[in-house]
Amino acid sequence: MIFRQLYDANTSTYTYLIGDDASRQAALIDPVREQLERDLKLLGELQLELRYVLDTHVHADHVTAAGALRERTGAQTVGGPGGAACSDVKAREGDTLRLGALEIRVLDTPGHTADSLSFVIGDRVFTGDALLIRGTGRTDFQNGDAGALYDAITQKLFHLPDATRVCPGHDYRGHSESRIGEEKLYNPRLAGKSRAEFIELMAQLQLPRPARIDEAVPANRACGTPARLLASAWDAARPADGFRNLSPRAAQPLLGQARFLDVREPAEYRAEHIREAELVPERSLLEAAASWPRQAPLVLICRSGRRSASCATQLARLGFERVFNLEGGMLEWREQGLDVVRSGAQGA
Ligand code: FE
Repeated sequence: MIFRQLYDANTSTYTYLIGDDASRQAALIDPVREQLERDLKLLGELQLELRYVLDTHVHADHVTAAGALRERTGAQTVGGPGGAACSDVKAREGDTLRLGALEIRVLDTPGHTADSLSFVIGDRVFTGDALLIRGTGRTDFQNGDAGALYDAITQKLFHLPDATRVCPGHDYRGHSESRIGEEKLYNPRLAGKSRAEFIELMAQLQLPRPARIDEAVPANRACGTPARLLASAWDAARPADGFRNLSPRAAQPLLGQARFLDVREPAEYRAEHIREAELVPERSLLEAAASWPRQAPLVLICRSGRRSASCATQLARLGFERVFNLEGGMLEWREQGLDVVRSGAQGA
């Protein structure tokens, strides 16, 4: 097996290149956008064909190179079902991906984030930010959950053979690799710690908010290429009167990339809405929009898609360049089984 550990000094991120000797098929794990050219050059030098780009989770500290690598090489991007909506492959517990004779086995290891995965390849486990060397990932944002992380580490990662090489997503103290057996003995957050003790310890960390979280998380949800994601959604959407119609499935990857505006009445919104959607009722929309930048991509939502279509036409007339209408509205969104928030204030 071809193995390279690569490092991004700005974010202390490890990227891993894995390749199969005979077939020359390769995968990159957690590539960093700023290191795109370095990684492409290495692939070329080693005469490897990139098949998969794996992100262990939607990162908050750096922007992934996944989308850019997909464009440059034709590789497929891989993430968890709750991760980046733009991933080609949604990998779940027990799934396997192949690189020639090499097998990549997927483990669900949530807790650092809800979408965190680990990958077992040969005698190595790539743990992302779940298990670090003598540490663990933090659990205080992106649906982090200390109890879930404790369970994932102690019930899954620590059940791998003790000799398994641990390849983490980061290191801040100069370590490069560990072993499962070693972490069981010496990881100060886990060795001899009960679940309750671990949860308490994690709650007391009080870490600063990651500097790039507001940029990185939305960008990573678009596989690191938000502008291209929007452009391709626009090209694929059905043209209407100055705007374009988007199905719920096509709209979902734009969460975090475009403003989702719910133009229904407040009571309808309270009863059920898309988490990221802002309430801007139809009657106040044009006044509110007067000061918005005309290039900002907007997705308009109502109950059935009719009110929002008429709002979309009006915004297009005001000069908005990228107005999408959610076809079928909330009815269709729900029909597709996509996420909604209910406040229980029905009829209020
Ligand atoms: Fe992380």
